[in-house]
Amino acid sequence: MTENEHLLLCLAEECDEVGQRVMKALRFGLDEIQPGQPLSNAQRISGELHDLISVATILSDNEVIPNPYPTGGVISAKAAKIAHFMEIGRREGVLTTVPETAGPVVIEAASSMPGDIFDWALTVQWPDGSESVEHCSTQAAALLGYVPE
Ligand SMILES: [Mg+2]
Repeated sequence: MTENEHLLLCLAEECDEVGQRVMKALRFGLDEIQPGQPLSNAQRISGELHDLISVATILSDNEVIPNPYPTGGVISAKAAKIAHFMEIGRREGVLTTVPETAGPVVIEAASSMPGDIFDWALTVQWPDGSESVEHCSTQAAALLGYVPE
């Protein structure tokens, strides 16, 4: 086995670790902290993504794979693709728009600053009853199901 083949195995391993951590978060919640360590599942997902991106960067530096960072409209294109498939999920009744958890709930959504990257203002009610206004991109608002068709 070459060093680059070893690195490719590391990349596959990190992909699995991201998937494992995401599945734990879906089973037990993003805020859950597994005993024996201090990090939440959300923090651990981020850590595994850092591992994955690091290995991909090393492989790119070794000219084994192209640049692993999305450029140009790649993120927007992916967001649009996900929004399309979420719509199919909603149509088929397997994806709900309203969060099912006791977490924050968006009570009003409006495009407030057209032209700004974070052009959507979401009025959020938190579990303690307080409200705040959070800003996000049109793509994020679409993913959350707040952009009208
Ligand atoms: Mg890892």
